[in-house]
Amino acid sequence: MPFFDISIVGAGISGLSAALVLEKFQLKTVLLEKSKNFSYQGAGIQLGPNGTHALFKMDLLQKVYRESFIPEYLRVYDLKGNKPLSQIPLGKTILKKYKFPYLTILRSDLHKILEEELIKKNKTILIKNSKITSIKNDKNYITLFDENGKNYKSQALIGCDGIWSNIKQLTFKKPTPKISDSTAFRTKIKNPPCNKSNKLKGVTVWLSNNCHIVAYPISKGNEINIVVVTKQTFDNNNFGWSYPCKLNDFRYLLGKNLNKEISMILEQTTHWFRWPLFFYNPIKNINEMTSNSIVLMGDAAHPMKPHLAQGACMALEDSLQLMYELKKNKLNKEPDWNNIFYSLSRKRIKRVQKVQQKSITNGRIFQLNGILRILRNFSIKLFGRYLLDQKWLFKNFS
Ligand SMILES: Cc1cc2nc3c(=O)[nH]c(=O)nc-3n(C[C@H](O)[C@H](O)[C@H](O)COP(=O)(O)OP(=O)(O)OC[C@H]3O[C@@H](n4cnc5c(N)ncnc54)[C@H](O)[C@@H]3O)c2cc1C
Repeated sequence: MPFFDISIVGAGISGLSAALVLEKFQLKTVLLEKSKNFSYQGAGIQLGPNGTHALFKMDLLQKVYRESFIPEYLRVYDLKGNKPLSQIPLGKTILKKYKFPYLTILRSDLHKILEEELIKKNKTILIKNSKITSIKNDKNYITLFDENGKNYKSQALIGCDGIWSNIKQLTFKKPTPKISDSTAFRTKIKNPPCNKSNKLKGVTVWLSNNCHIVAYPISKGNEINIVVVTKQTFDNNNFGWSYPCKLNDFRYLLGKNLNKEISMILEQTTHWFRWPLFFYNPIKNINEMTSNSIVLMGDAAHPMKPHLAQGACMALEDSLQLMYELKKNKLNKEPDWNNIFYSLSRKRIKRVQKVQQKSITNGRIFQLNGILRILRNFSIKLFGRYLLDQKWLFKNFS
């Protein structure tokens, strides 16, 4: 194997977007991925204007846009009410306000676009079926060893290996996150959900106590992605996203007299997948993200709960910041990786910390009980238009 400028472990949204950035700087990159093939499972993601801004800067937005849906609104209900507590327009209004669109897309479509772009450019060496199990750090280079007995040498390393990151454990001696008391369920159905109903055209959230539901169109509006988060644990936990289960596993937690729209949506399928949510402590120090010529990006650096819909957006922002740092370093003959990674982490830490914290807080607010539920609903009715529009997140990106 040749000696690489840089190796990336993990070819998710984070690793692929980072590799596409490195290609712009003619760096010899190897991207190591443990899966033999990517399984294109059907989960949707929302890309706020900060995520689409990052895609635009990396010359990827046009392709993503073609596969996306533009939601018209964000609406919030109490699970027992048929009238929204509050709503804000998305679509053209968000585009006008933040200059970049709010999109929804199948995660697998976004992943496929990034992978195809990488293959088309044919510069990065992408090696699948290569699970990295150990690292040796010599003075001037890093050696990665995979499960098949192969090794790869490079000057620097980016760990993009997701929430259960091996690179994080091996380099930063961090324990893996712990399973929390919450479980997420997902499915997708066709849009409109049945002949009698209208098409769902926006992001819709139903709040309750001990559970909440989020649904929005994906696949250019032809399907609906549904995620239900409940305060519930299961013994036979599966760490992937695709443990098959049934509506009845959580239906009893939703209670009776449900909002008509979600009630009809839930009736369309009994096939669900579940996975446990996890605890994490928001990142505190730069040295939890970088050490000399090694840096973590995406979920490996800053895992987050899905309640602010920002995990992939933050991974894309990390890659954009990498691009800015490499541009700054361009005057140097050789990349000064220690400096590049330190500066990258310094620029990112406060923002990802805030997003991690807000995601935890949102999860709590979405599932308040008793009098707190009533107060929450009242506040959303009064201030929803300000609370739902995340100006701090969508406006202040670099
Ligand atoms: C229910 C739910 C809803 C979400 N909704 C949104 C949303 O609306 N908007 C949003 O922005 N984000 C959302 N997210 C978050 C988003 O999907 C993730 O944050 C994002 O995909 C993380 O990307 P990543 O590349 O960092 O990690 P991953 O996607 O986990 O990729 C890590 C890669 O590393 C590989 N790997 C792992 N270990 C090794 C190893 N030892 N050697 C080699 N390869 C390895 C894995 O196979 C994988 O391909 C959601 C997440 C969930 C669970």
